[in-house]
Amino acid sequence: MFLYNTLTQRKEIFTPHEEGKVKMYTCGPTVYHFAHIGNLRSYIMEDMLEKSLRYLGYDVTRAMNITDVGHLSSDADTGEDKMLKGARREKKTVMEIAQFYTDAFFTDCEKLGIKKPEIVVPATSCIDEFIHMVEVLLEKEYAYIAGGNVYFDTAKLPSYYVFGNMDAEDLDVGVRDSVEEDSNKKSKSDFVLWFTKSKFDDQELKWDSPWGIGYPGWHIECSGISVKYLGEYLDIHCGGIDNAFPHHTNEIAQSEAYLGHPWCKYWFHVLHLNDARGKMSKSKGDFLTVSLLEEKGYDPLVYRMFCLQSHYRKPLTFSFESLDNTAVAYKKLVQRIAALKTEGEHDEAGCEALRTKFKKSLENDVNTSLALTALYDVFKAKVSDADKLAMIKEFDEVLTLGLIAAADKLNRELEEKRSAIPEGVTAEEAAEINALIAKRTEARKAKDWGTADAIRDELAARHVVVIDTPQGISWHIEK
Ligand code: AMP
Ligand code: ZN
Repeated sequence: MFLYNTLTQRKEIFTPHEEGKVKMYTCGPTVYHFAHIGNLRSYIMEDMLEKSLRYLGYDVTRAMNITDVGHLSSDADTGEDKMLKGARREKKTVMEIAQFYTDAFFTDCEKLGIKKPEIVVPATSCIDEFIHMVEVLLEKEYAYIAGGNVYFDTAKLPSYYVFGNMDAEDLDVGVRDSVEEDSNKKSKSDFVLWFTKSKFDDQELKWDSPWGIGYPGWHIECSGISVKYLGEYLDIHCGGIDNAFPHHTNEIAQSEAYLGHPWCKYWFHVLHLNDARGKMSKSKGDFLTVSLLEEKGYDPLVYRMFCLQSHYRKPLTFSFESLDNTAVAYKKLVQRIAALKTEGEHDEAGCEALRTKFKKSLENDVNTSLALTALYDVFKAKVSDADKLAMIKEFDEVLTLGLIAAADKLNRELEEKRSAIPEGVTAEEAAEINALIAKRTEARKAKDWGTADAIRDELAARHVVVIDTPQGISWHIEK
C-alpha cells in the first residue's frame, strides 16, 4: 500500500513496525459542542483508511482520545479551556457536557457509517499517565517549570518543526488579540505540559500533581493515551490538517523525548472542509451538523458519499448544490442495484478483475473517488447479476454507503406498492387483474401473441394501465 506521509511530504510504501499489524491513533473530538460536518469529513476519511487496511489484510488496532480537558481556545495554549466555555454556555458541569457531546459524536459517527475505534479513552481517565510522562520529561531536562506551569523546552530538540513548511509565526494562528502572550515561556514555541497556575478562577477540573493542583495540557493527552494503549511504536497517526501544527508537532516532540527513540512513522492528515466563509469551525458558531442535514431531508450516507467523491488530501468545498448532485447520484446507484437479479453463474476470474481494480484504488493512498469508479465498473462487467451483487456487497463493506440495505428497502417499497390494491378496484377485481397480467406474461414468454393480445384488449377494456419497470410490473386504473 502507498500512503502519503506528511512527515516526509511524499507517498511512501507502507511498512508497519510489525509485519501485518497496524497500530493507528486518531485525535478524537473536543467534546464542548456537536461535531460539525468538517470534523466528520476527517473521521470519515480516517475510517476509510482503517477499513482499507483491514480489507487489504492488515490486523488493525486503533485508539482515539476524547478531549475533555486542556484544549484551550487557541491551539497555542492561550485563551480559555474550551470545555469550561461550553459548560458555562449550557449552565452544566464540564463532565455533563463531555458525556452529552461524546454520545452525540458517536451517534453521528454511526449514522455516517464510521466504525468506533476499539479503544476510546477520555483524557480525564489517564491523568496519572500524563503526570508520569511530565515527570520523565523533567528528569530528562526536556521540560522546565516557570510561573507555576510545566513547559516543554523546544530548544532541547535538534529539530522541532518536523512537518516542514511551518514556523514560529504559525503559532499566532488562532490567538486572539485580547489574549496575552505567556511570558513564562523561554521560547514562543515552548508549550504547556501541565498547568498548575490556572488562568481561570473557575477551573472545574483539577488534579493533584508533584507541581501542585492543576490540569494537563492538550498535547500530552494524545502522547500519553497512544503510548499507554498502543505501545512505544505507532504506525499511523491521523487528524485534520489543522492539527499538524502545533498539536502533532508537540506530540512528536514530547513522545520522542520521553521514549528516547522515533515514535510514529506515518502521519495521515485530512484536508479541510470549507464553506463559502472558509474553513468550517466550531468556534465560528453557525456550523453544519449531521442533524441539520437530516432535518433538511438528506440521508447522512449521502454526505459520506460526497466526501468519498474527493481525495482526502484535497480541500473540499461544501455547498447544498453539490450535496444535491450527490443525492441524485446516490439514488440512481441504489436504483441500479435494486434492479439486479439474484441469479446467474459465478465467474471467479471476472470477480477477481473487479476486486483488483478496487484494491488498487485503496492501495493508492486511499483513493476513494477511484474506489467509487471501481464500484460503478461492476455494472459494466460481463458477470452475472448475482456476482455483481456480491461484489457490490463486498466493496460496500469498505465504502459503507449502506447500498445493499437501501436497494433492499427500495425493492420492498416497490413490492408493497405493487401488491397494494390500486384505487378504484375491489380486492377480487385486483386479484383477477393480477391473474390476467401473469397469464399475459406467460403467453409472451411462450410467444403466444394471440393470447397476449386478447388479454391486452381485455385489460384495456377495464381501463387498466400496465407499466413495466426494472423491478417488475405495476398497474393502476386510468382516471
Ligand atoms: P476538534 O473537535 O476541534 O478537536 O477536531 C476534531 C477533528 O476535526 C480534528 O482532527 C481536526 O483536525 C478536524 N477538523 C477541524 N476542522 C475541520 C474542517 N473544517 N475540515 C476537516 N477536518 C476538520
Ligand atoms: Zn491529538
